[in-house]
Parts: sequence; C-alpha cells; structure tokens
Amino acid sequence: MSKKTPQAIRGTQDIFGPEAEAFAHVVETFERIRRLYRFRRVEMPVFERTEVFARSLGETTDVVSKEMYSFEDRGGESLTLRPEFTAGIARAYLTNGWQQHAPLKVATHGPLFRYERPQKGRYRQFHQIDAEVIGAGEPQADVELLAMADQLLRALGITDVTLHLNTLGDGASREAWRAALVEHFRAVRGELSEESQERLEKNPLRILDSKDPRDKPFLADAPKIDDFLSDEAQAFFAAVTSGLDAAGVKWVRAPALVRGLDYYRHTAFEFIPDAGSASAAALGAQSTVLGGGRYDGLIESLGGPPTPAVGWAAGIERLAMLVGAREEPRADAVIVVENDARLADAIALLGRLRQAGFASELLASGSPKKRFDKARKIPAHVLVSFPVAETGETIRLLGDGSPTAAALETLVRGR
Ligand code: ATP
Ligand code: MG
Repeated sequence: MSKKTPQAIRGTQDIFGPEAEAFAHVVETFERIRRLYRFRRVEMPVFERTEVFARSLGETTDVVSKEMYSFEDRGGESLTLRPEFTAGIARAYLTNGWQQHAPLKVATHGPLFRYERPQKGRYRQFHQIDAEVIGAGEPQADVELLAMADQLLRALGITDVTLHLNTLGDGASREAWRAALVEHFRAVRGELSEESQERLEKNPLRILDSKDPRDKPFLADAPKIDDFLSDEAQAFFAAVTSGLDAAGVKWVRAPALVRGLDYYRHTAFEFIPDAGSASAAALGAQSTVLGGGRYDGLIESLGGPPTPAVGWAAGIERLAMLVGAREEPRADAVIVVENDARLADAIALLGRLRQAGFASELLASGSPKKRFDKARKIPAHVLVSFPVAETGETIRLLGDGSPTAAALETLVRGR
C-alpha cells in the first residue's frame, strides 16, 4: 500500500473559511431572492442517463462532445454526471407529469461536472444556482427571470456587471441566419482558426463566440440576426426589452452573443463585468457570471410535447469571487471553563444560550490556565467565564457593549 497521502482530483476545490462564507452567502442570498420571486425549490439527481444530455444539448456542443463525465455503471448503462441543470429538470418535468403545474417556476443549486482545462474561475467540479420557468411562452417570463438575476446581483453588492442581451429569433429566423453565417465564413474558410473551421460544419453560430485573433477580422462584418428576424420574433424581443425597461433592469444589446447550446431560441443573455471594473479584474479571463435564455425546443427533443421554457444559471464560485472573502461571523458568546468542577454548569448554560438562539461555543479543553487567553482570541460579543473558586466569583462576564451583549448578559445572570 502506498504511504503517499491522496491528492484532490484536478479541477476540484476544497473550500474553507472566508471563501466558504462567501460561497454560503451567495447561496443564501439566492434562496431569499427566489422566494421573493415565488420560484419553487427542486432537488435534482447528480447523474442522469447520458442520452438526457446528449439529446437535449445536442451532440455538436462543446459540453457533449468534449466535457462530459460519462461512465458505464455496473448494470452496463451509460450515465453522466450532470454538466448543467436544465436538461435534468426538463427530463423530470416529463417523467413526473409536472405539466400540471405549468407555468412551473423552479430553482435549485448544487455541483456540476465538466472535463475542462482548470484555471482561475474554471473547474471540473463547480457549482451553480439555477432558475427555470417551464411552460411559459410569454416574454414576461424572460423579463421576470432577468429582473430576478439583476436583483440577485445587486443584493450581493455586485454593481459593475451588466446584462448583455440578444435574440436568436424563432426557429425559422435562426435557421436563415445560420445559413447566411455558413456562407459568409465558408468564403474565408482557410483563414479561420482550426476550431472555427470545425464549427463551420457543426455549430457555425459559435464562431461568433471565438476569441481567436485569426477569426476576429471576419466577425465584425458577419451577417446580423436582425436582418433575419421574422415579425413575430421582432415583436417578442421588443416585448422583452420594454419589459426590462419597465422593471428598471439595465441592458445592452449584444448582437453577436450566442449561447453554446443548440436548444436556444429568442432571448439569449449573459451578465458580464464592465470593462476595466473591479469585477472584470477579479474574474480575469472567465468573464461570464450568469447566462441563459429561452429553450423552447428542448423538451420536444426529449420526446415531450412542444413546451416553451426559459432559464438561467450562474457559477457560485465566480459570484463568490466577486463578493470577495467574507469574515466568518463572530460568536454571540464564548464560554470558558477555567475551573473543571464547573463543567456541568457551563454545559447547561451553553445549551440554554443555543436554545435561545445565541451562537455560542465552549472552551473546556487543554491547560485550564491557558483557556481564558485562548477564549479571548475568539471574536465574540460576550465572554462568559467559570473562574477558579479562589477568586470568589461564580461567573465572570465580559461584554462588548452591543445590544446582543446586553441581551446575553440578562439571560446569563437571570438563570
Ligand atoms: P464559459 O463560456 O465560461 O465556458 P458556459 O457558457 O460554458 O461558460 P454555462 O453553461 O452557461 O457556461 O454556465 C453558466 C455559468 O456557470 C457560467 O456563466 C459560469 O459562471 C459558470 N460556469 C460554467 N462552467 C464553469 C466551470 N467549468 N467552472 C466554474 N464555473 C463555471
Ligand atoms: Mg463552457
């Protein structure tokens, strides 16, 4: 047997202390906001049959073709660790007959898995918060989701991130645009990056996303979706933007914004740090914090009835980086037992304080002489000490003068 200690898997993180506090703060804030917007909580399996993702995301996407953690289980079935939430939620919508709840507003959070090149802000196990509205075809659903995302960011104190908004039109608009893009890029095929040459056949919209300098010269004059939008698609987008204006959500038009997945229709969006802002500096190259859009075709691709839907997801780690490390909250009370004969009294008091809702901890181990000094170093509103008998005192209280300390002192004295 090897004596070497095991290492964590590449691209995973062990999150602790102030970073873990930031992570928890993101999740707690999301939970509060999703209740304000009346989104219902769902818990989803971490793995699904591989086909759930292959069929809904499309075989040509980066996620399905390169990034999935797929394996055969002992029964010989191909399973995949979820790389995103939407496909699993769509599957559950069909399996459980959640149509009866349509329009269904749901929210969840948890770990996702993608085989990517790990770097700052990009991991192989990462976490998302996620919100979806299934069975709602009106632009109002898009507006509500975007207002929710915007309020979440503001509640987290993130003010230098802006909504970049685009429309991909309906199925027909998108197809016409796609054909025009293929024609445009085919003419300069040999000068494109290898990756974009490959995308030309499989997923030409994604070329617009390219960061490769060889592709850049051909992006600016590429055909624009606006020239291909049907009247319906135009009206839909206008309703989304006027709804955002009414809701006070700031946005900018991003005509080249396409989302990586095949299933998007109409609205597509990302929240991106403003150039030169603190958030841009904090995130570096991984700039998108929250992304989503409308995926009216997805449920059909899983064999369900035509079902309009829209949703978004945001990386918890990236949001936590923008929030910044947060101090672990101070204790309300620290109880220190300098006199071991008083341990039972201390345990009883500790129980009462916690029952009353005061965050409290007990220090009763190690050298009794050193305990008091140790206890003083723990940030707390009140220090309660059970001193040695010779001092004459049965209990000593050191408060910081805060209202919490006053309430605690009353409780400790009045036992
Ligand atoms: P990117 O362009 O950064 O690869 P994406 O388009 O693949 O993002 P989505 O699938 O839309 O990302 O996921 C939504 C959000 O989840 C992203 O905006 C990001 O905050 C987060 N995210 C995606 N992949 C990762 C990852 N590997 N590590 C950490 N966060 C991630
Ligand atoms: Mg990606």
